[in-house]
Amino acid sequence: ANILCCRGTSCTAGGSREILESFREQIKLHDLEDEVSLSFSGCHGLCSIGPIVVIYPEDIFYCQVEPEDVPEIVEKTLIRGKLVDRLLFKDPITYEAIPHYHQIPFYMNQTRILLRNCGLINPERIEEYIAREGYQGLAKALYKMSPQHVIEEVKSSNLRGRGGGGFPTGVKWDLTRKNPAEPKYVICNADEGDPGAFMDRSLIEGDPHALIEGMLIAGYAIGAQKGFIYCRAEYPLAIQRLKIAIDQAKEYGLLGEGILGSNFNFDIEIKEGAGAFVCGEETALIASIEGRRGEPRPRPPFPAERGLWDKPTNINNVKSYAFVPQIILNGHEWFSSIGTEKSKGTAVFALTGKVKNTGLLEIPMGTTIGEIIFDVGEGVAKDRQFKAVQTGGPLGGCLPSDALNLPVDFDSLTASGALMGSGGMIVVDETTCMVELARFFLQFAVAESCGQCTPCRVGGNKMLEILTRITKGQGKMEDLDMLEEIAKFMKKASLCALGQGAPNPVLSTLRYFRDEYERHILDLR
Ligand code: SF4
Repeated sequence: ANILCCRGTSCTAGGSREILESFREQIKLHDLEDEVSLSFSGCHGLCSIGPIVVIYPEDIFYCQVEPEDVPEIVEKTLIRGKLVDRLLFKDPITYEAIPHYHQIPFYMNQTRILLRNCGLINPERIEEYIAREGYQGLAKALYKMSPQHVIEEVKSSNLRGRGGGGFPTGVKWDLTRKNPAEPKYVICNADEGDPGAFMDRSLIEGDPHALIEGMLIAGYAIGAQKGFIYCRAEYPLAIQRLKIAIDQAKEYGLLGEGILGSNFNFDIEIKEGAGAFVCGEETALIASIEGRRGEPRPRPPFPAERGLWDKPTNINNVKSYAFVPQIILNGHEWFSSIGTEKSKGTAVFALTGKVKNTGLLEIPMGTTIGEIIFDVGEGVAKDRQFKAVQTGGPLGGCLPSDALNLPVDFDSLTASGALMGSGGMIVVDETTCMVELARFFLQFAVAESCGQCTPCRVGGNKMLEILTRITKGQGKMEDLDMLEEIAKFMKKASLCALGQGAPNPVLSTLRYFRDEYERHILDLR
C-alpha cells in the first residue's frame, strides 16, 4: 500500500507534517516498512475537510485526519486490510463508511486536466511527474515539431489565456515569435492576488513541473532562452517547490544548455513579488521584474512588441502554460473537443464562500454555475438559500439565482456583467448584504490602486465614500445615479484593468440587487 498525505498549504496548516510523522512511527512500530510506502502530495482540492490522506491502491479517502487517528487507520486499514466502518468524516459532513476517492461527489463531477497530478504525485520528485507522461510534450515538440508547428498546434487548440483576459494563447506566441528583435523572454504570471483565489498556488504546489514544461515549450516556440516566474513571496511553499523542481529539471538535462540533447537552451528564474495586486497587470509585472516600481503603463506597445527590457516578451498565466504539454502530447483536436464553441478546454475554480464543499475544482467550459455549486460543491452550507455568486475576483461581478443556468465560459460571464477572471468563485447566501459585499470588493480595489491615474484614484475613492454612506443609512436616491456615472467614467478612462474593473461589483449589484441599495437608503432593512 502507498499512503499519500496531502502537503498543500491548507492541509499543512492543519497538521499534515505531524500526521506524516505519526504514520512513520506506526509503520515502524508494526514493522510494515517493506509493505507500506509513505509519501506526500500537493493539494487534493477539497481543502474544507483537510488534512486528507489517501491510501492506494485501494483508493481509500480519509479526511479531517488528526495525528491521533493514525494508529487506528494503520490498525484497521493496513493491518486488518479492510475498510473501516467507523465515521472519520466529522461534522458537518458525515458518511456511513469511508468512501473511495472517486465515489466522492466533489471529484465525480470534475474533468481534471490541469489538476490531474495534484494530490496524486509527490511534487518534489521529478520521477513521479515523468511517470505521468511528464516532459513527453517537450520531447515531442523538440524532436517532432518545428517552433512554428508548435504555435499552429496551440492556435488550433483555441486555448485562451487563463489569467482572465481570454486572449488566444497561440496568437500571442506568434506575435512574439515574429518580432525580429532579440533576445526574447517568457514570463509566467503567478502573482495571483484575488481575495479567495488559490488556483495558481495549488497548481504550482501540486504539480510544478507542468508549469516548467509549458514554459519550456513556449520558449522553444517563440525563440526565447530565458524565462521568469513572477510569484508573490506570500506563497513560500509554491516557491520552495518551484526551486526544487527547477534544480531537478537541471539535473535531468531538462533546463540549461542542449535540452534533451537538442540545440535548444533555456533557463528559468524565479522573481518574488511583494504582493501588490496591481503587479498582476502585465506591464506592472514587467516593471517589477526590471526592478522598477510596479505600475502599469499604457498599451500598446504590448509585451509581444516591447516587453521585458523593451524586448519581445510572452506573458501567460500559470494555468495557460500548464495546459500546453497536454495539448502538444494529445493534439489540438483532443483539447478543442472539450468545452464550448468559443471557450475550449476546462476551467479551474477556487470555490469558496457559503458552499458545503469549498476547494479547488476543474470542470469543462460550458458547465453551468448551478452544476458547479450544487453538484461539485454539494449546495449552500447550513442548507441556507442561495442568493448570489461572485466570479472573477474583485474586478468581477455578482450574479443572482437566475445565473444558475448560465454556462461558465469567457463570453457568457462577461455578457452577464461578471467575469471569468482567473477562477475565483464565491457563493453568497441569504444572510449576506450585497451592498456590503460590493463595498468590500471596492475597498480592496481602492487600497490596491497604484494611484497614478485620476479616474481610478479619485473615482474609486468617491465611489467608496458614497457606498459607505449608503451602508450607514445616510444615502440618497441620487447617489445611485452618481455611482453609475462615476463607474462608467472609470471603466472608460482608467489606464489599466484594475481601474476599469473596480466598479464591476458595484455595477452588477446595482443591476441585480438594486432593491437592497434602496432599502438601505430608505432605512427599511
Ligand atoms: Fe494605477 Fe488604477 Fe490607473 Fe491602473 S487604473 S494605472 S491601478 S491608478
